[in-house]
Amino acid sequence: MLSEFEIIRRFFTRPAPSAVLGVGDDAALLRVAPGMELAVSTDMLVAGRHFFPDADPGKLGHKALAVNLSDMAAMGAKPRWATLSLALPEADEKWLESFAGGFMALAAAHGVELVGGDTTRGPLNICVQVMGEVPEGQALRRSGAKPGDDVWVSGRLGDAALALAHMQHRIVLEPHDVADCLKALHAPEPRVALGLALRGVAHSAIDVSDGLAADLGHILECSGVAAVVEIAAVPRSAALERHFGEETARQALLAGGDDYELCFTADVDQRSAIEKIGRDTGVAVTCVGRIARGSGLAVTGSDGKPLELRRTGFDHFR
Ligand code: ADP
Ligand code: MG
Repeated sequence: MLSEFEIIRRFFTRPAPSAVLGVGDDAALLRVAPGMELAVSTDMLVAGRHFFPDADPGKLGHKALAVNLSDMAAMGAKPRWATLSLALPEADEKWLESFAGGFMALAAAHGVELVGGDTTRGPLNICVQVMGEVPEGQALRRSGAKPGDDVWVSGRLGDAALALAHMQHRIVLEPHDVADCLKALHAPEPRVALGLALRGVAHSAIDVSDGLAADLGHILECSGVAAVVEIAAVPRSAALERHFGEETARQALLAGGDDYELCFTADVDQRSAIEKIGRDTGVAVTCVGRIARGSGLAVTGSDGKPLELRRTGFDHFR
């Protein structure tokens, strides 16, 4: 049986050349470059709530970091360091090997160094904190949307929710749609490069983790504005299009969870700059609506009339 310290040494101790001090002391030491602000965010994944306890550990390692990197992307911050706090029911070497592999591969891809954490026995629970840098005053906040701004969305929405609905037997996906939807659910790609490129271009941003209606709603509330989104413009996969007649798929597009795409607003003058950023970063960007004076979100159908939104997003306490 592995001890706590063997687990830390074998699976979670890696060189952290850009930290003053990484794993192994009572605290890590980090130095933020002059002129930069430290962006700090944390996200917890709880077995049975955010994932099935028998989930593929490699994908779980990826996703635990990905959801945090998505928050850095939404701030326009460059992720630099992370900590990882783990409660594990047992020290399963195979599980740990695979989990650490998924986590470290994504960390390496984004130049993120693991600089600390905590390891304890308990019900499976994964808590990651990520720290990044953003030039002073340039972070993309939720509060910057202005009337007249375009509303943009990266990638496409709804596939992760569709995968979940399929796993819960609420819908049946065609075999050739299953793999793509499951990838969206289990291995989202955080839009870090896009977030960085949007500094100085977007007025506001958020990552879509609880559904577009809820997350755009946060921008509207923080910015004191309203928005109109055209449902037909919201980017979706062919799989979702095939199911769109069904209430589940319609909900997936606006109120599904786990998309980890960016929703941002920008001046109309920035349209061609944003399209170029999309091409340069290899991420589709789609204008889905417009910010207006007032409050609240209206989603219009193909007839231009507002749709009834039954559920506006995921909330753990409702
Ligand atoms: P303490 O007793 O001060 O909490 P620990 O013995 O828990 O210290 O941790 C020893 C070192 O290992 C610390 O630097 C801590 O940040 C790091 N560490 C513990 N668990 C993890 C983990 N899961 N991932 C990365 N680093 C970890
Ligand atoms: Mg500890």
